[in-house]
Amino acid sequence: MTTPPQSPDPAPRERSDFIRDIVAADLREGRVTQVVTRFPPEPNGYLHIGHPKSIALNFGIAEEFGGRCHLRFDDTNPVKEEQRYIDSIIEDVRWLGFDWGEHLYYASDYFPQLYAWALNLIEAGQAYVDDLTADEIREHRGTFTEPGRDSPWRDRPSAESLDLFKRMRAGEFPDGSRVLRARIDMASPNLNLRDPVLYRILRATHPRTGDEWCIYPLYDFAHGQSDAIEGITHSICTLEFEDHRPLYDWFLDNLPVPSRPRQYEFARLNITYTLLSKRFLARLVNEGHVRGWDDPRMPTVSALRRRGFPAEGVRNFLDAVGVGGKGQSAVEVEMLDHAVRDVLNRSTQRRFGVLHPLKLVIENYPEGQVEELEVINNPEDATAGTRRLPFSRELLIERDDFMEDPPGKFFRLAPGREVRLRYAYFVTCTGVVKDESGEIVELRCTYDPATRGGDAPDGRKPKGTLHWLSAEHAVPAEVRVYDRLFIRPDPGAEGDPVDDLNPDSETVLDGCLVEAGLAELPVGETVQFERLGYFCPDPDSGPGRLVFNRTLGLKDSWAKAKG
Ligand code: ATP
Ligand code: MG
Repeated sequence: MTTPPQSPDPAPRERSDFIRDIVAADLREGRVTQVVTRFPPEPNGYLHIGHPKSIALNFGIAEEFGGRCHLRFDDTNPVKEEQRYIDSIIEDVRWLGFDWGEHLYYASDYFPQLYAWALNLIEAGQAYVDDLTADEIREHRGTFTEPGRDSPWRDRPSAESLDLFKRMRAGEFPDGSRVLRARIDMASPNLNLRDPVLYRILRATHPRTGDEWCIYPLYDFAHGQSDAIEGITHSICTLEFEDHRPLYDWFLDNLPVPSRPRQYEFARLNITYTLLSKRFLARLVNEGHVRGWDDPRMPTVSALRRRGFPAEGVRNFLDAVGVGGKGQSAVEVEMLDHAVRDVLNRSTQRRFGVLHPLKLVIENYPEGQVEELEVINNPEDATAGTRRLPFSRELLIERDDFMEDPPGKFFRLAPGREVRLRYAYFVTCTGVVKDESGEIVELRCTYDPATRGGDAPDGRKPKGTLHWLSAEHAVPAEVRVYDRLFIRPDPGAEGDPVDDLNPDSETVLDGCLVEAGLAELPVGETVQFERLGYFCPDPDSGPGRLVFNRTLGLKDSWAKAKG
């Protein structure tokens, strides 16, 4: 056997895509000795479910190829950025299971260096201070079919630009009165190269640098240089930045940067029935269509967490989606739900909860007697053990588990019919009590004491098995049931996405009842309510108040409805 060629990547790779192929080749061919990537969010909102695609890609590549990944805040626009967004992003990335170690950075840390490099460009005749207004600059820029026109200030002497730029920095001019522009090519077919703006005057307090600066670099002037300062080898971003790459390279080629990163682009994640845009999500919050960024209907990472989605489910979903270059279409939202159910089915403990309670009285069960019955916590996981549930004469079952006049395929409780109460006894319905309006308010039943534990000695098997609670031992809860936030798969495709919001995206059920032990369940820990779905306590819970979110139903009811 011959030894395989030496490679820093000896084991077959678990994940493979065009970006990982590039990284593997760069390592193999010695262009790079250690891979350094970064996740560079702008702290102007909460992360949405698209961001983890970038997070998993950047952190995943670093981990798989023995490199490192930085978390860097691209905080160049103080008007929109806030500390609470920084905090939530940090929490989200951690929750997703990724670790940047000591490599937490801020583009604002580089403001002094960026300013010095701007001076270099001016001295070299590659940047100038422009006195045109923002509107005039836009008019001069031209279009895709027409070249741009030079600003009258384009050829002002370097010394004059240098002086003006320093005075911009010193606060001598009002906001918006002047900008610094790169001097590249007003006729370039790439609009990004038509003398892009590098700095603007802006008096806004920055979450980190406070009022130290009154000029701020634009994203394009900060991003590549920040990458270079940190020694990023592969600067991975989404496809909308492809047209910015020549500018990214231009700065690196024309500045004395300490390293030479390269930019690679992949397709943004899009999901059906979902809109992934921080700007739009901010609008939903600001206009009150949802209760906040972490409203469990939102597609933000913090909302998914609040709703009880496990990070592992999100990561498995992203693995299933893969990376994708150009032309990747929207992923079906069912795929996310499927990945999440898969994890929850394995990992969650089972509990009893009744969302629409109906009283059931067992006429031949001794009054005042309470039995503790042993109940299995998770049939998928023997190590999850058992618990004890009280059983008594007055029980609660799910209202739709009974029908007075059932159609052929209804196998649950009906007059004269026997069903199994899970882990307890068989009961037979002997009568129905109604109120004046004719609504059923109580069922009368008898039970068979020989069926304790849920099996009959004679081997008879009822067709239906129901969950139940002992009425006096159950505790009340509010349950919030969520549906899709939008009614169409492509919200906004034909107008304002707000018009596509699903008016029934949330149903609040009062008067639900759950096992008493659930009052102790920590916020965000998901359990399965048997036969109903996955639920977790919401942070709105408090002493004497239990609020549950329905994470997901047990099955995809939409797929079923579609046939
Ligand atoms: P949005 O356009 O939704 O407001 P953004 O791109 O402005 O998001 P940033 O904070 O700038 O948000 O993004 C940080 C990183 O996350 C960027 O590298 C960006 O390319 C990536 N990213 C953003 N949205 C998606 C998405 N839907 N799929 C994959 N990556 C994304
Ligand atoms: Mg952005």
